[in-house]
Amino acid sequence: RLTNSQDQALRHRAARVVPGGMWGHLHAAKLPEGYPQFFARGEGAYLWDVDGRRFLDFMCSWGPNLLGHQHLEVEEAAERQRRLGDCLNGPAPAMVELAEQLVGLLPHAAWAMFQKNGTDATTTCATIARAATGRRKLLVARGAYHGAVPWCSPSLLGVTSEDRAHLLHYDYNDEASLAAAVDEAGGDLAGILVSAFRHDLGRDQEMPQPGFARAVRAACDAAGAALILDEVRAGFRLDLAGSWEPLGIRPDLCAWSKAIANGHPLAAVTGAEWLRDAASRIFVTGSFWCGAVPMAAAVATLRVAMRDAVPERLAHLGGLLRDGLAAGARRHGLALRQTGPAQMPMVLFADDPGARRGEVFCAAALQRGVYFHPRHNMFLSAAHTEADIALALEAAEHGFAAVAAAG
Ligand code: PMP
Repeated sequence: RLTNSQDQALRHRAARVVPGGMWGHLHAAKLPEGYPQFFARGEGAYLWDVDGRRFLDFMCSWGPNLLGHQHLEVEEAAERQRRLGDCLNGPAPAMVELAEQLVGLLPHAAWAMFQKNGTDATTTCATIARAATGRRKLLVARGAYHGAVPWCSPSLLGVTSEDRAHLLHYDYNDEASLAAAVDEAGGDLAGILVSAFRHDLGRDQEMPQPGFARAVRAACDAAGAALILDEVRAGFRLDLAGSWEPLGIRPDLCAWSKAIANGHPLAAVTGAEWLRDAASRIFVTGSFWCGAVPMAAAVATLRVAMRDAVPERLAHLGGLLRDGLAAGARRHGLALRQTGPAQMPMVLFADDPGARRGEVFCAAALQRGVYFHPRHNMFLSAAHTEADIALALEAAEHGFAAVAAAG
């Protein structure tokens, strides 16, 4: 059996000095029993908790870990910059290098600016869209996640109705609901926020339908509003030129974070030429927004991602995992729903409200050293190997057996 006494001891100490012991979505109470709250280290595709247990990781820090923990080239670039300085009186040359790299990589982008977290980036996009248009209304998809501040938080606790006064909703992939929300915004539409694909918690993922993506673009063009693509979660895993590039739809603004610097804290907004002036006039900043180490790490991360065709590698590995899981479930007479891009697996059991079967499955796989998630999309990294996928499928076999036994 797994023992996690160090983890338990830290949880008890945290409960006294940290509200709730932990905040937000990383609270281990939201995971099946046995999942650790605290981690000691990470290397490649593996994580070690504070009790020395090793896990093959399919959450990848909830996205940031794109190339593997402690990736040599990224860490060398970060270390070189760390020796020169990180937090200075202004940015280091790495900021310009990174902006040039993004503008070169992303066909929609004429410029880039940088922040820390995904929420900073989505909020900055909203501010730029409003500043550029002089309008107030923002459209967001029902159930989509764009961050953890009052204008977009999934919880209304501590949020006023005024904070949400200019937010209107549509349903992802539903052109009629989009048209209705655009009508409701009338002449006050500043922008439409849309996730790279639908990746809401606990439900099947959906790729954007081409007709829907075209309708979002057309609605923005007709209104002179900004198409804001939230790439925070999907960015650099689906397509290095941007997740909607294969659809032929270019956004006006993109919010990036998570994978951009392989775990170093960085976010970015990239934008089209017509938004450059507004982006230069709004007031946005943060004490650590121009930290040089994450920018140097991002330059290296994107270079490696391009050189090694990382999205294609992740799609291949994710495909192996998906096929193996589907075959395993079939052997045990279980029905799985695997949806969305293979690089970001969403594995749900059919007829499983509350993901109870998912929890049984994950708890059993964890016992075998594999860290899955029962209701959130997972992530592949370039450090995963085919041997790792085989190991994950062995653990999954125990998971399916546990679910079948539980009935
Ligand atoms: N947008 C999306 C699509 C996200 O997945 C997230 C984070 N899960 C955010 C925005 C917010 O990013 P952060 O937590 O870094 O502020």
